[in-house]
Amino acid sequence: MITAGVDIGSSSSKVVIMLDGTRILSKAVLPIGTGSSGPVKAFEQALALADLPRRQISYVVATGYGRNHFVEADYQVSEITCHARGVFKLFPDVHTVIDIGGQDAKAISIGANGTVTNFVMNDKCAAGTGRFLDVMSRILEVEVNQLAALADSAKREVSISNTCTVFAESEVISQLASGQAREDVAAGLIKSVVKRVAGLTRRVGIKSDIVMTGGVSLNWIAVRFMQEELQNSVLVSPDAQITGALGAAIIAENMIRSGKVSQVSPGSIPNSILAI
Ligand code: ADP
Repeated sequence: MITAGVDIGSSSSKVVIMLDGTRILSKAVLPIGTGSSGPVKAFEQALALADLPRRQISYVVATGYGRNHFVEADYQVSEITCHARGVFKLFPDVHTVIDIGGQDAKAISIGANGTVTNFVMNDKCAAGTGRFLDVMSRILEVEVNQLAALADSAKREVSISNTCTVFAESEVISQLASGQAREDVAAGLIKSVVKRVAGLTRRVGIKSDIVMTGGVSLNWIAVRFMQEELQNSVLVSPDAQITGALGAAIIAENMIRSGKVSQVSPGSIPNSILAI
């Protein structure tokens, strides 16, 4: 059975197409999220990469901030449930998940079989999210995916005293104007996001192993700082940004297999896939 998971975030769209809830056939990530053409384009891209027509996808589960607006979805599931399920597939021994996305950050405790036992979320303030780093990268004149490389050569971390993103923006501008090195400011900005999210994680309760997911986990300085802050090793999968979509595709398969829903599309598996 072929299923798809579609994670529609505030800043990116992620799609995973899976065979029998076990093998990833294709994945797509586009850096535009809900309210844009990103979700549809990412879905089409994943279908093209798997060389599959839409009718062969038995069930599509959408998750993420924009999950209720995706016309191709058969069902919607919260991103917390999907992240936990995706992490359980990638790291069965992990009990604490730190997900830092574009618009929110979450710390999730997971129990047996990848079920959610507790979570804490910051979705009220940009500080402590990827959005904060996006805004600050612009002031540092660097793409957000180059921020870690910039911070890697920092000699120290310039601390940011404002928690409000708008005030922090002015603070960063004056720090740069007063001659602080861009590298040191970059390190300080990443540290400030990490400190806030580490606080959330302590509130949810830390139980090893810890894994980081979401776009900010691609920032290796953020991962290093998180390890230092929590005094614990932090795992990151190469599939960290698609974890929610992966979980959604697995949940889609489980729903059909357990008889919770009947298969929407015939979903016959092409011989080309069975032969791989
Ligand atoms: P959402 O699901 O909310 O759309 P993501 O989990 O995709 O968010 O995370 C988006 C955030 O991740 C961006 O705001 C950005 O700060 C960060 N990010 C995305 N790509 C990278 C990258 N290649 N390197 C570092 N940070 C990144």
